[in-house]
Amino acid sequence: MLTEPAAAMPIPGHIDPVPVPRAPTLREDGRTDLIGLSKEQLRETLATAGMDARQAKLRAKQIWHWIYNRGATDFAAMTDIAKAQHPWLAERFVVGRPDVVEAQVSTDGTRKWLLRSPDGQDYEMVFIPDADRGTLCVSSQVGCTLNCRFCHTGTMRLVRNLTAGEIVGQVMLARDSLGEWPSQPEGRMLTNIVMMGMGEPLYNFDAVRDALKLVMDGDGLALSKRRITLSTSGVVPMMARAGAEIGVNLAVSLHAVTKEVRDEIVPLNRKYGIEELLQACADYPGANNARRITFEYVMLKDRNDSDAEAHELVRLLRQYKLPAKVNLIPFNPWPGAPYETSTPERVRRFSEIVFEGGISAPVRTPRGRDIDAACGQLKTAAEKKSRAELDRLAAEKQAALG
Ligand code: SAH
Ligand code: SF4
Repeated sequence: MLTEPAAAMPIPGHIDPVPVPRAPTLREDGRTDLIGLSKEQLRETLATAGMDARQAKLRAKQIWHWIYNRGATDFAAMTDIAKAQHPWLAERFVVGRPDVVEAQVSTDGTRKWLLRSPDGQDYEMVFIPDADRGTLCVSSQVGCTLNCRFCHTGTMRLVRNLTAGEIVGQVMLARDSLGEWPSQPEGRMLTNIVMMGMGEPLYNFDAVRDALKLVMDGDGLALSKRRITLSTSGVVPMMARAGAEIGVNLAVSLHAVTKEVRDEIVPLNRKYGIEELLQACADYPGANNARRITFEYVMLKDRNDSDAEAHELVRLLRQYKLPAKVNLIPFNPWPGAPYETSTPERVRRFSEIVFEGGISAPVRTPRGRDIDAACGQLKTAAEKKSRAELDRLAAEKQAALG
């Protein structure tokens, strides 16, 4: 009897990258949201709406600065734009924010927002304040196609990719809520961004890149690329582009050192194995001892947490000569999860072995567990509707808008 070769076996529940973001539904009021546009795209948008070319160039520059540097959402506040032009702009455009469905605060100060897009998609963002920094954990997709077995988000059906506007919109909303406009380099609470919310950022590459370019622009949100980290579960073919076109810090969700275990817990490993992944890390531009690659390792009881695995981790990172640090994440449980958290003693021992191997391996303190805001706990109610149902609803809505 012929059997399928292992490599060709389908990954349960795995859908290949959504090649393009599903077009966001038009706003009901017919206006265009300017959030997410580069200066050039903003100029084109104004010109297409009928503004003459010279005006469009000047106005695009001004409006862009108001949006990203000053946090303005109202054209009337844009004082260097002729008053007579305000109604023309307001009839055609908005400067939007995601709708906040729910905002929660953890006992440890972590905040979680449930957000909703105009077409009814829910996604989450989390703000983690620390003594010396504040980190915003940003989502790149509604749900995730990758189904890592320990991740709650992975149990959602992917609804859609977020647009660049929805990604940068999370940062804008956080700034609103922290009262951090205009953009200023000193004294901010929001100092760092991690692309570690819902979704796999390298499966939504263009939108993530465009959003992060807006975040990094010195004239706009002005966060340094050194304070931004993109986490990937190992989408090897996109890693070189991420280095070249985005250039932020890289974090890789390694989580296991053998094919057998990684195949089980990060099913993408069946497509891009550990060796290929580590080679892509070694080739990642900009990685050096001052800017190390973070290897995330979720500690799952009796599954990936033995002494032998800690030694193997050191060996592998050395073999590829990686400027590495390891982040040990105690598994954050969720209802029905097939794993348990390693004991604190086990986590400590694992960390010691990696340290003794010359690689820093701090244990990440779980934050916001009481409000399900910790790593891997994000999951919204959107999964209750099937993809087909959402397509139907979107089609109905579009038809109603004509
Ligand atoms: N999709 C990207 C980024 C989002 S997940 C990625 O996988 O890297 C952010 C981090 O949280 C990843 O390292 C992920 O593996 C980890 N994570 C997921 N579920 C977790 C859980 N239940 N407990 C602890 N960490 C988890
Ligand atoms: Fe997706 Fe990352 Fe969760 Fe894996 S860990 S399912 S890639 S969000």
